Amino acid sequence: MISYSEALERILERASEHGPGRERVALDAASGRVLAVGLACPENVPPFENSAMDGFAVRSFETREASPERPVRLRVLGTVSAGDPPVSGGRVPASAWEIMTGAAMPLSPGSSDEPRGEPLTYDAVIKVEETRREGTELLIERPVRAGENVRGRGEDFRSGDPLLSAGGRIGPYQVLALASLGISELEVVRRPRVAVFSTGRELASPSRLKLAPGMIRNSTGPYLQAALPLFGAEVDYRGVIADDPERFFVELQALLSGPDRPELVLTTGAVSMGVHDFVPAVLERLGARIHFHKVAIRPGKPLLFAELPGGGPLFFGVPGNPVSSAVGLRFFVVPALRALQGEAPEKPTLARLEASSRKPDGLRCFYKARLAEAEGRLQVSALPGQASFKVSPLLRSNAWVVFEEPGAEVPGGSLVSVFPLGPEGIGILDNPETAFQAHDKGCCT
Ligand code: AMP
Ligand code: MG
Repeated sequence: MISYSEALERILERASEHGPGRERVALDAASGRVLAVGLACPENVPPFENSAMDGFAVRSFETREASPERPVRLRVLGTVSAGDPPVSGGRVPASAWEIMTGAAMPLSPGSSDEPRGEPLTYDAVIKVEETRREGTELLIERPVRAGENVRGRGEDFRSGDPLLSAGGRIGPYQVLALASLGISELEVVRRPRVAVFSTGRELASPSRLKLAPGMIRNSTGPYLQAALPLFGAEVDYRGVIADDPERFFVELQALLSGPDRPELVLTTGAVSMGVHDFVPAVLERLGARIHFHKVAIRPGKPLLFAELPGGGPLFFGVPGNPVSSAVGLRFFVVPALRALQGEAPEKPTLARLEASSRKPDGLRCFYKARLAEAEGRLQVSALPGQASFKVSPLLRSNAWVVFEEPGAEVPGGSLVSVFPLGPEGIGILDNPETAFQAHDKGCCT
């Protein structure tokens, strides 16, 4: 049985060879995608020097002597608003332009490229609230600093500077920057296609009104269809295989020879020691390369990782209990999806363990947890009800806590690794306490 670290290393190594290629997408479809090539700024933002305030563009040197007792008097030559083409400032001494936020600064006489410091350049803006008017004259009662309230050309983004690196995920702030720079299309990693099979003759559709005796609802099929897209995948849900190895063999063959070969195949159930746990045998018959079967973890120990033949998709067989499937997804499939997309491995957040927690010695445990902030420090507790069939504690959890292999108890106050439930990072307010109480007999963690 291999350790989680060894398992992860193998997964990352294999996934990096199976990247799904790239595609161009429009900016409005880019959120959530991973950038395939790095980008540099194609232009300056702001594109021209402009005013940060509603006020008056002045020549700072002309205000040097201004004071409330001896205000400087300037003649207002006109008004410029956002959207106006830049006006030529003229050569009139002791003058100012009324200027609105976002309007281009009046240009120096001659050309727009005349260097700053040229005495006739309007180089500062004073806020309207700080001025007085007397007829056509503007009164200024303090020196205005050169550059005051002026947004420089390229002050936010400078043309040619590095902007975003390959492997970074595009979110709303990236869209804001890209739109500011006029980038309307970009090269992203194609979404990895994930084919999902559920196994188990006991599985009834969640929409079935009444369960026949011995049947349970298929909960992880809908769960995986909901969760995988959050981590960048395109899901192809292939339905339930009712513990029929022959059918699984045929369906896998069809999938591999079909037009939409996935990058990853995920099955739930049928990887343990039961008489119906047929997944390993079918994979062997198919000629798959099995990298590992069983990892020293809880829950989800019988997890299997393979590569299907023909330079094939990655294959994950996760055990059928819902929380084993969730841990398989979060700690095995998600790292693979990130690597397939060229994203760096995720780093845990550290938090203090609130109370001592028992665990099986020698296994790395991924436990349903609740993270809270107390006096500026993150505190985490493993929730009651860690058995792998128990879904209800997930409704009160807002994180996964990870306990490393050695020891049968993790002392309260230890620093432990915490992972967010989803891809959005640690959010301690995302999942409020609900009415659910764990009915925990204290058995089978
Ligand atoms: P298995 O890994 O196939 O031995 O299944 C382990 C446990 O998970 C059994 O109690 C199954 O009934 C249950 N199980 C398997 N698949 C699902 C599923 N899709 N949804 C909910 N429970 C499942
Ligand atoms: Mg089964």
